Order: sequence, then C-alpha cells, then structure tokens
Amino acid sequence: MTFDLPATPQTLELATWDDLAPFYEVLAAVPLTLQNAEEWLHAWSRLQAVVDEAGTLAMIAYTCDTADSAKEEANLRWSSEIVPKVNEQSVRLAERLVAVGWTRDDMSVVIREFRTDIEIFREDNVEIFSEIEEHSAAYQKITGGLSAEWDGERVTIPQLQPHLKERDRAVRERAFRLGAAAYLDRQGELAALFDKMFVLRQRVASNAGFANHMDYCFKAKHRFDYSPDDCARFHAAVEATAAPAVERLMAHRREALGVDVLRPWDTLVQLESERPVRPFADRQGFVEPAKRIFDALDPELGAQFREMATAGLLDLESRPGKAPGGYCTKLTWRGKPFIFMNAVGVPDDVNTLVHEAGHSFHDFAAHRQPLIWQRGVGHEAAELASMSMELLAMPHLQQPVGYYSSSQARAVEIEQLEDVLSSLVHIASVDAFQRWIYTSGQGHDAAARDAEWLVLRSRFERGVDWSGLERERVARWYRQLHIFELPFYYIEYGIAQLGALQLWRDSMRDPAGTMQRYKHALSLGGTRSLPDIYAAAGARLIFDTEGMAELVALVEARIHAMRQSVVA
Ligand SMILES: [Zn+2]
Repeated sequence: MTFDLPATPQTLELATWDDLAPFYEVLAAVPLTLQNAEEWLHAWSRLQAVVDEAGTLAMIAYTCDTADSAKEEANLRWSSEIVPKVNEQSVRLAERLVAVGWTRDDMSVVIREFRTDIEIFREDNVEIFSEIEEHSAAYQKITGGLSAEWDGERVTIPQLQPHLKERDRAVRERAFRLGAAAYLDRQGELAALFDKMFVLRQRVASNAGFANHMDYCFKAKHRFDYSPDDCARFHAAVEATAAPAVERLMAHRREALGVDVLRPWDTLVQLESERPVRPFADRQGFVEPAKRIFDALDPELGAQFREMATAGLLDLESRPGKAPGGYCTKLTWRGKPFIFMNAVGVPDDVNTLVHEAGHSFHDFAAHRQPLIWQRGVGHEAAELASMSMELLAMPHLQQPVGYYSSSQARAVEIEQLEDVLSSLVHIASVDAFQRWIYTSGQGHDAAARDAEWLVLRSRFERGVDWSGLERERVARWYRQLHIFELPFYYIEYGIAQLGALQLWRDSMRDPAGTMQRYKHALSLGGTRSLPDIYAAAGARLIFDTEGMAELVALVEARIHAMRQSVVA
C-alpha cells in the first residue's frame, strides 16, 4: 500500500475540500483487512495530523490578526467548509476499521469512541448542526457587540470587569449594573435565539434515537464513566459543602468591608491588598519568571516552555486586531503546542498563562503516542492538566522565582482559592440548569427558564443579597456562552477542579512524587479510560459529598491560614 500525503500543512494553506477529498477517497477505497489495518491507520493518522494542523494555522493566523480579511476568509473556509466534511469522512473511515474488527489494547478506548460516533451519526443531523452553528454565530455577534458607556467612553463588557475590583463601592455598583443592563437590553432577542437552538437540539437527539438532548450529549461527549445521576450527586455535594463554604467567605467579606449586607458588586474586590497587584510590565517581565517557575517545578517542563518561547509559540500580549480571550492549541503535525492570550499585566494573566502551559505540557507528553487519536483527550482530562498546573505552580509565584512579593503572593493565593470554591457553586448552577432545560418539558418556555435559573441560583449561591436585583441575577445565564454554544460542556470543569485539588493536596506532602504522577497521567494521552487517567495522577472522579467535603475543607483551612499570616 502506498499513500500520497500532503507534504506539510503549509502546502494546504489555500486548499478547499475538493483538494482534500481525493486523499480521503483513497483511504475509503483501499481494500482493508486485519493484516493491513495498522498501516492504513497510520496513513489516516498522518493525513489527519497534516489537515488538522493546516486548519489550526488558519485559526491562529486569523485570531492574531482579525482585521485581515484574507485570513478571516481562510479561517471561515476551514471551520465551516472543510472541518465538517473531514468529520463526516472520519466517521466513514472509522466504520471501515470497526467493520474489519481490528483492535489493540492501547486503541481500545479510541475504538469505543469510534463505535459511539458511528452509532449516533445521522445524515439528517449534519444540516441541523450547521443551522445551530449559524445561531451560535448570531449569539457571538450580539454578545460580542455589547458595550456600555464608562466615563464618556464606549467600553466592552469585559472592560467593565476590572472596575468590579475597585475599592469605591459606588464605582463597583455602576460597573455591575451596566454589565447586566447590556444583556437585559437584548434579553428578548437572546431568548428567541435560544428557543430556536433548543428545538434544533432536541431534534438532533430524537433523530439519533434519544429521548432528549442531555442523553444525546452524554453519548456524543463520550461520557462512558459517569451519568446524569452522578452529576445530580455532584449538585447535591456542592449544596452540602461548597455552597456553605462560600457563604462563610461572603460573611467574612461583609465584615472586612464593613457593610450591612453584601451586594453582588462586593464579591470581587480584593480584601488583602490595598492597591491592585501588577505582576509584570512587559513581555520579558511576563515570560522570564514563567520560565523559572516551570524550571522549579520540573526541569523537563521548564525546557518545554523555554522551547515554546524560542520557537515563537507564545503570542501573549494584547494588541489591536487580536481576538479576545486565550487558548492553547496544538500543531498536530509537528507535535508542538501554541498559546494565545491577551495579557495586560494583571494577576489573572499569570493564572491564564500557567493554565494554558498546563495544556501545552499535556500536548508535549501525549504527542509521544503513535496515532493522532491516542493523543487526544476529553475535557475532563485536559482540564485536569491545566487546573492542576495552576495549583502546583502556586508555591513558586513568589520572587525571586516568580512575580510577587510575599504579601502579594498571599493576596493572590487567597483570591485564587476563593475562586476555586465559587467556581464549584457556579458549575453546579450551570449544569443543573441545562439538565432542567432539556429534561423538564418546560425548556422551550423563556419565562420558565428565567424562573428556574433563580430557583437554582438560590439553591447554590448564598451569602449575597440580591433583593431587588432579580432581573440582573437572571442576566447571568445569558452571559454563559456554553449554555448557548456548547450545551452540557461545563461539569468537566468541576470534575477536573476536584481532580486538581487532589493533586494539590498530595503535593503538600510529596511534591516530587505528585509531579511524576502528573507527568505520567499526561503521557497516557487518550489511551486509557478517564478513571484510569485520573488514577495515574493519584486522583479519582469525585461526585460524592464526602470526597468534596474533604477538599473544600482543605481549601477553606488554607484560606484561613493565609489570612492569619497576612495579619501577622
Ligand atoms: Zn483549559
């Protein structure tokens, strides 16, 4: 068997689907047997890697320079024309492999995923997905275009965010109200958009033989190791452990701020440091400490980060024309990660870089697996790598290795640990809400959705007085893009956060052993089941109250100890 493959991703820069289709046709036509299956699989893997990297390069080029219309056009060609076709071909090729009955121990997880993809694939759904994509784009356009007037200037909603940390309470309240009002102005339009997406998603599910979109998503997301019932246990565990812990944090905050009642605009102001912490001033001040931090954690990780810095694989600074947000993506052909973000010199930038670096270490480690599918993991494992890195790096953020003076490091650590607990509360709200939307029989009703969000928010989010602000409270779910664009993608963050906390706990008594287990888990890529990957890292999937209670108590105790040391 000989296969002609595109020589490099760069040769596909201007490719259309018509240029790529013949490669897939060859793989679809060659007679496949148990004997030649492995060779055929390697050819498909190499083709997939070169095509995948070409699409990624188009995405990187566009997000780094959104004003360039040629780059915009190329990215759109890849995402809307080529990628859906590639996905369709992948199901077709996977069907061939499954039909000949080929398998291998380190491919059994991948083949289980192939079988599931084949099982739920419906020709009729391809068009519905592209219709949903159009509605997603409409959501992005509406929410991306929202703005507010701040001191005589037009600002975006994310630009209001820093004002929620200011010491002046009136300033915080103004920023909070403006942010919510921007969404409430478009509430009717966004609700109508969601109505359409809801109907289409339920149709996708029924076309594939499922009772509702939740059951479809559990299959489509390859959630073989936990069920909707486990997620419901997670909600109950949050209600019993993280929710009261956050309520205690809020009570402390109310006292520290000296206010009678804590309002939603009081939850983000930093209590431990009078002035905003500025960790770095320029690129060098950002990248050099990061190199030292990863060196201190593990020489191999340090070398990988240094390689990225030298090879132009870090695009970190905010500048005009760059898309918002941050991501880590992988160049599958050459086996290197790429980090994109918009740093402006605040502590969140440090967290983002460390988080994305965790993903990039995962990419380096998993790339040693021979086939492209063995290098890919679900979000539960991917976020374990990044969220663990955020916690494992914490002890090294202080100068002379890292960015902060000792008092700044304490303030930043307290803030980060408070975030960990608040995020569990938010994750439970979002996950329980989506379950209700797709299974209650009332998810099509806009008013019922808003009412249910308030019910769930009161269940999980305590210690803040929202009286008279019900509409503003409702506005929060319209801001959560996952609910609109990526249904049921959220519980993964909760599972991974609890996994990361287990590594953090272990690292306090055995930092070297924890790092070895972390690296080993990353190197498995997608060759093992989710519980096995977590077990390799020394963790387990936690949905139970007892497991969550232990970790929440650990975080709370650490926050308490840090507060004492700030006073001292
Ligand atoms: Zn991540």
